Amino acid sequence: MAVRELELVEILEDIEKKYPGEEDRIRRAFEYISDKHRDQLRKSGDPYVVHPVNVAKILADLNMDATTVVAGLLHDVLEDTDATYEEIEELFGKEVADIVEGVTKIGKIRFRNLKEAQAENFRKLILATAKDIRVVIVKLADRLHNMRTLGHLRRDKRVRIAEETLSIYAPLAHRLGIWEIKRSLEDLSFKYLYPREYEKVRKFVSQSLEDLEVYLKKFVIPRVKEEIKKAGIEAEITYRPKHLYSVWQKTIRKNIKLEEVHDLLGVRIIVSSVQKCYMVLGIVHSIFTPVPGKFKDYISLPKPNLYQSLHTTVIAPKGRMVEFQIRTREMHERAEKGIAAHWAYKEGKEKAHGEEIFSWLRDLVENIQGSKNPSEVLDNLKRELFSEEVFVFTPKGDLVVLPMGATPIDFAYHIHTEVGNHCAGAKVNGRIVPLSYRLRSGDQVEIITSPSKRPSPDWLSLVVTSKAKNRIKHYLRQVERERFLSEGRRIFERIKESAGVSSEELVEKLKKKIRFKEEEDLYIALGSGKLTATKVLDILSPKKRKKTDDRGEPSGKGVASVEGLTGIMYEIGNCCNPVPGDEIYGVGKRGKSIVQHEKARKKQA
Ligand code: MN
Repeated sequence: MAVRELELVEILEDIEKKYPGEEDRIRRAFEYISDKHRDQLRKSGDPYVVHPVNVAKILADLNMDATTVVAGLLHDVLEDTDATYEEIEELFGKEVADIVEGVTKIGKIRFRNLKEAQAENFRKLILATAKDIRVVIVKLADRLHNMRTLGHLRRDKRVRIAEETLSIYAPLAHRLGIWEIKRSLEDLSFKYLYPREYEKVRKFVSQSLEDLEVYLKKFVIPRVKEEIKKAGIEAEITYRPKHLYSVWQKTIRKNIKLEEVHDLLGVRIIVSSVQKCYMVLGIVHSIFTPVPGKFKDYISLPKPNLYQSLHTTVIAPKGRMVEFQIRTREMHERAEKGIAAHWAYKEGKEKAHGEEIFSWLRDLVENIQGSKNPSEVLDNLKRELFSEEVFVFTPKGDLVVLPMGATPIDFAYHIHTEVGNHCAGAKVNGRIVPLSYRLRSGDQVEIITSPSKRPSPDWLSLVVTSKAKNRIKHYLRQVERERFLSEGRRIFERIKESAGVSSEELVEKLKKKIRFKEEEDLYIALGSGKLTATKVLDILSPKKRKKTDDRGEPSGKGVASVEGLTGIMYEIGNCCNPVPGDEIYGVGKRGKSIVQHEKARKKQA
């Protein structure tokens, strides 16, 4: 224990050295967490503070600002101790308190079903929950230290955490461009999930590297160095082995043996300007023959996570293929630290705040020389980092992603059309909410269905997803069609009776005058009022009708001969289409004619 504590003090001093002027805040944070976590132990038997101090160290190594480092020290106190947000805010400031709270929130997300589509949703959820990207960076540092100490946990727990790391956190680190963390997370997950393959790859790589290093030092690097020097360019030449997980992935992706992976060691050349990158590329290509199709210009066309570099593979002496990566110092920093480089701590000053990230990204993208479409790069990145979606859960805990503004009806249709069509109400986090409730990230949504409930037209103004909109419209159209159909049949029967013909005769007669494909179309035309009974009767006996209605207006307007009343202006109700013989009643409209409705329909009129 004493040894452990000594080690801790050393780590802490290391951190403090990096942040002159912030020693006090860092030391206070350490004392605070030592007190808060005092009775807690890690599974390894270490005092709990070993964990947050190491997390803070990882953040300091990423050159994060002092606020993030302090938040790293405090990241577990809200969850595991009696500390409160207010207390943290008072002692260490609002920014620190917000970051710690964000990390705590992410810690409460339960990841279920890590298949790719769901995993992607969880990654988005984390980004959306975080608000400040520093929250995600602290979470990644937290996960990295937990992965490093995973060996102390039970096997089933190890596997679960490693799976989660590989499908959620490593890709997240990749998306943010934090290469250092991504590499470590992948290799550690690899080790716990596929121990045998891991061992095989590790052995192979360590043996081959020795040989490769000798080769590079003898045949490749001296020649490149010499030519670059002749051109008057200052450059730093290093080489770095491919990480184990990516070697293994390559054998799977390309279906090749380990022995066939040739780019275990890439040569990296770092220069001071973009122009010099291209000059060095020219030099490399003049010394060795480039392999066609292997040259990639990520300086002109950066990757979506803003990674920039020139990549080329050449055939070096003895016919071996060697990959070169050529970039500026700044590009290199960004390649290793990604978005974390934004908070790079310089000269004792807090450089920037979370909200400034937009302008930072904009500047960055605009500064990318020769980029063909900087706005597209920026848009993609923004979409990925600042989601316009809400993330909600089913009662079983499955994650559902919906656009901002979605309501329980959208959720219901997302689950199933039938759930949507019978959606009678909703509970959010156990409480009944109106169907107009706008869902918020983290809500757990339960839909109450009822067999008698049906979609109503005003739902259309409540939903935002096209799926819900289409399903509701579809349903309403279908209901309308059925209503028109039965209404049309009824009108047809009346006409038939008053004309004294059989159905077949009537259909035949009408077919000659009006175009329709199926009999159903005729009924729907009648039921919807597109074809009025008056018009049909006109067709059947044109002369007789001409007397009263020589304009032949399609809508039944005219002067009625209703028993007891004559010469009264009337309109036939559009809703029920009464025909001669139907019992009718009238609804007087002020200053207008009487609207006649079929009597049986009175209640609905
Ligand atoms: Mn932790």
